[in-house]
Amino acid sequence: MSHPSAFISRKGEQRLAAGHPWIYRSDVADVDAEVGDTVAVKSPRGQVLGQALFSSESQITLRMLTRGETPADLALWRRRIDAAVTFREGLAIDATAFRLVNAEADLLPSLIVDRYGDYLVVQALSQGTDRLLPEITAILAERVHPKGILARNDPKVRSLEGLPQEVRLLHGTVPESILVKEGPVEYDVNVWTGQKTGLFLDQRENREAALRYAKGRLLDGCSYNGGFSLRLASACDQVIAVDISADAVARTAANAARNKIAHLQAVEANLFDELRSLGKAGERFDTIVLDPPAFAKNKTSVPNALAGYKEINLRAMRLLTPGGTLITCSCSYNVTEPMFEAVLHEASADSQVPVSIVEKRMQGRDHPVLLGVPETYYLKCFILRRLD
Ligand code: SAH
Repeated sequence: MSHPSAFISRKGEQRLAAGHPWIYRSDVADVDAEVGDTVAVKSPRGQVLGQALFSSESQITLRMLTRGETPADLALWRRRIDAAVTFREGLAIDATAFRLVNAEADLLPSLIVDRYGDYLVVQALSQGTDRLLPEITAILAERVHPKGILARNDPKVRSLEGLPQEVRLLHGTVPESILVKEGPVEYDVNVWTGQKTGLFLDQRENREAALRYAKGRLLDGCSYNGGFSLRLASACDQVIAVDISADAVARTAANAARNKIAHLQAVEANLFDELRSLGKAGERFDTIVLDPPAFAKNKTSVPNALAGYKEINLRAMRLLTPGGTLITCSCSYNVTEPMFEAVLHEASADSQVPVSIVEKRMQGRDHPVLLGVPETYYLKCFILRRLD
């Protein structure tokens, strides 16, 4: 059988030349390939442009692995995984849980690998990486020597690939409870059922940064299992962690007990309602964290998302004491950094609360952004100071 191949249009070729690793269905002219094959990508004139993962279902039909003549064999996967792991080893991360492989930004498209102590959690988000999972598992086992590897293949995006949403053990054993450390904080993580792969690892460095400003009374809006609250508690007199999920609130309380933090109160509430009632009651906070889920899951929901971001930020600015710090985040990649900054400006203008930008941050260094691929830059984190 001949090597699987895909011919792309002139427009697709131009996109590749501009550096983007994805070719959409509308730019693919002719395909001779099976589900999840690694294919030779050819120009309209038949010139080989590189190798890519092929998807028979997704709008993202081709994800480039190599350019030109470089083969996309297992040696390539081994080299790229090794480079990704070596990079994290050099980051001097003060935690036992962090991201080892960040998909496109490590030139390992649609592959996520997170480390939780002695265990790895993998996500194969395309037909290509799904099919290569046995080989990827073997490479990871050989490079990292984990006690177990779990596939958290339950994100919704898998359905766009025609793939099942499932959680499956790939190697060794993985317990329901894994103890990990982030700085001085200990967490009990369930990687089988927790949100994302268990923790919001992308916020680790923002929690560290926030600690430099935290003081007095802290309000942690959308706390999940207590990430910001637990990290900032040592600098604060009182901590209120708010989340809409009963499970998240229970986890925050359990993590506070584990870390012997007695001045933390975990509250089950809708952040919008809670901010309103705290405002009515005349409460004040010296430090506020806003880390809501992605309000804009797609382009059409952007206007509503912006209204939501504006409302919570406006209310938080009013609750802040002068000299206080607002750590405010957006993880919607459809809301770009300039859009988010504009919303914060409006919130400040409408609430008549002058604020300065102290830091503009993004997802942590173990979640790098691939230059030219805005889809890989999703998390924005502004640290603002109320002036008056
Ligand atoms: N700050 C956390 C991660 C937050 S993830 C960390 O550092 O680990 C977003 C959280 O927002 C989820 O736990 C979700 O349950 C919660 N959430 C979603 N909508 C909410 C709402 N309207 N009010 C309060 N919490 C909400």
